[in-house]
Amino acid sequence: MEHHLIDRDRVGLQDAVLLEDYTSEDAFVDNLQKRFKEDVIYTYIGPVLVSVNPYKELDIYGPKDVKDYDNKHFFEVPPHVFAITDTAYRSLKEENREQCILISGESGAGKTEASKKVLQYIAEVTDHKGEVERVKDKLLFSNPVLEAFGNAKTNRNDNSSRFGKFMDIQFNFEGNPVGGNILNYLLEKSRVISQAPGERNFHIFYQLLIGADDALLDQLSLKRNLGSYYYLSNGVNGTSAGIYDQKDFNEVKKALKTLEFTEKEQTEMFSIISAILHLGNVGFSETEGVSAIVKPELIDTVSKLFSCDSKELKHALTHRTIETIRDVVVSPLNRELSVYARDALAKAVYDRLFTWLVKRLNDSLQPLNNRTNTVMDENDFKGNYSFEQLCINFCNEKLQQLFIELTLRSEQEEYEKEGIQWTHVEYFDNKIICDLIEEKHKGLIAFMDEECLRPGEPDDKTLLAKLNSKLNNHPHYISHEKADIKLQKIMGRDEFRLIHYAGAVTYNIKSFMEKNNDLLFRDLRETMTNSTNDIIRAVFLESEQKSKKRPETAITQFKNSLNNLMIILRDKEPSYIRCIKPNDTKSPAIFDEQLVKHQIKYLGLMENLRVRRAGFAYRRLYERFLQRYKCLSKETWPNYHGSPKDGVQILATKLGYDKDDYQMGKTKIFIRHPKTLFATEDAFQL
Ligand code: ATP
Ligand code: MG
Repeated sequence: MEHHLIDRDRVGLQDAVLLEDYTSEDAFVDNLQKRFKEDVIYTYIGPVLVSVNPYKELDIYGPKDVKDYDNKHFFEVPPHVFAITDTAYRSLKEENREQCILISGESGAGKTEASKKVLQYIAEVTDHKGEVERVKDKLLFSNPVLEAFGNAKTNRNDNSSRFGKFMDIQFNFEGNPVGGNILNYLLEKSRVISQAPGERNFHIFYQLLIGADDALLDQLSLKRNLGSYYYLSNGVNGTSAGIYDQKDFNEVKKALKTLEFTEKEQTEMFSIISAILHLGNVGFSETEGVSAIVKPELIDTVSKLFSCDSKELKHALTHRTIETIRDVVVSPLNRELSVYARDALAKAVYDRLFTWLVKRLNDSLQPLNNRTNTVMDENDFKGNYSFEQLCINFCNEKLQQLFIELTLRSEQEEYEKEGIQWTHVEYFDNKIICDLIEEKHKGLIAFMDEECLRPGEPDDKTLLAKLNSKLNNHPHYISHEKADIKLQKIMGRDEFRLIHYAGAVTYNIKSFMEKNNDLLFRDLRETMTNSTNDIIRAVFLESEQKSKKRPETAITQFKNSLNNLMIILRDKEPSYIRCIKPNDTKSPAIFDEQLVKHQIKYLGLMENLRVRRAGFAYRRLYERFLQRYKCLSKETWPNYHGSPKDGVQILATKLGYDKDDYQMGKTKIFIRHPKTLFATEDAFQL
């Protein structure tokens, strides 16, 4: 039984392309709202899936639902994340085209949940035999581990991903998963040392303290009291609604086992986590500009857990060795610099532990031989002000650029394939903004790096002055000086503003230099390199070797991994899931129109709709079209023996389609305006 293509009354339109006025944002939002109120969270814009977070469990992901979508035609089943996954999967399996599914939306919009549904669907529709099942288990179980170490409670999402993730799934010729690969980028490591009010550190810290048994806690010298640890004390303490640390810790342990982490590896991981907790409690005093450790016995505990030398660590936290051309100078640190060194160490160790973890997961997901793959993405466009946000927003610019390129390309390809004339569509090209950020020698990143690598103390103010002087003529860069009076009132002198494709974002220059430099004093690096904890030694040795060359700054590393990713994605067939958050209160009942409108704007959905509608709103295979509407003419019903194309032509003539409103391609009919289709649909219902 076919589902109704256009169920206009109760749950709005399945496909926004069919909206009468496709330029009206209100009509678009209205349609989403109507559906949301009926618990229908999925809507299409042509092939793009729009998903509105329901903030409640819906009974739409069970085995029966999987069956409903398994091997079905995309437009003949209601919109669903399973439909988009199925289509990508079939295209991979049958046409041998590599796929990627790109998931975007702001924090809490449902990206991570959507990516899990994609994985769930693939796991369920592929074989359930021995080795395949084992690979799938590993793919599924890498999620709880990544989330424990990479997710945290924020004010916007109790389980917010604080890193970007791309996951590749590799399939064999039978279409079964045989392996995977995870690419991580930019973990928000500053969270290790401090959290905003109401937020938490990464889940794993709490999971360990709450979930570990007494013996393990003893071994790690930990107390089961969250309040005893400074690094957990800025944010909220303890377990809040929706976070189940005890249960999650058991899940993580189970996952680690499935992923074949050895006992030793697990002990080393948890030792590092607890060492970081103890390290946070180390305080410093200062006499005449020289710092001293307040409770040296704490360092003994930290060293034991880091498996490094205690004396060496004490020295490294209070001194700094600087090598000049002529000699080596060891100078004591003051209190402020010791605190800085301590925090830098905590962040560096955690960040590297996370990178190691992803690498270790990848080892476990390595296939024996592979063919093609699917990629998933996460990203998040935020209106905040920091260095990390600049990186994330830059990532979004690049993904948007790719989106435009690929969408237009696939439209063009289909027209060509069907022998239909292509009409050029105007669209906003955000290349100008990408260039402003990344262009060699004259982009923002180039100037940031120049400042960072200049000898002398890093200074954010000098950097801002440089950016202002070099970029002030760019139409998408606004300095305080260039801003108009109204804007100057809300913009600080230590801020600059970029006009992204999705809107303007003001960035505060504070800590840009430090974060880009990512400085860890050499003494601490050396201490860690001598650790007998295999994980620590491995990750610090690796970066030691790299740092023999001039080290790359954080943003340049990010830019390079982003550009590599673009190269990988450019060769794939993309599918898009655009996630929308209906309200800021995690409520299943509220649809905040203003909030939704804002997201629609920065996800570029209206632009997307416009491009789609600039051509033909509706296209369908002749067979399918005929099957649905054949009863509308005596010439095609009840008996018709001609070709489907001729049958559709008969119908089009019979129904009085305007010559300009439709075209007959090789395998499909293309209809320009939805009105035509509605009329047909109405005739059908009479
Ligand atoms: P971030 O960028 O912060 O990582 P996100 O886009 O990944 O955010 P999710 O963690 O996927 O957001 O979703 C936030 C919460 O919303 C989930 O923990 C879940 O409670 C709810 N949610 C999201 N999608 C769904 C869904 N399809 N069904 C039910 N609940 C959902
Ligand atoms: Mg997430």
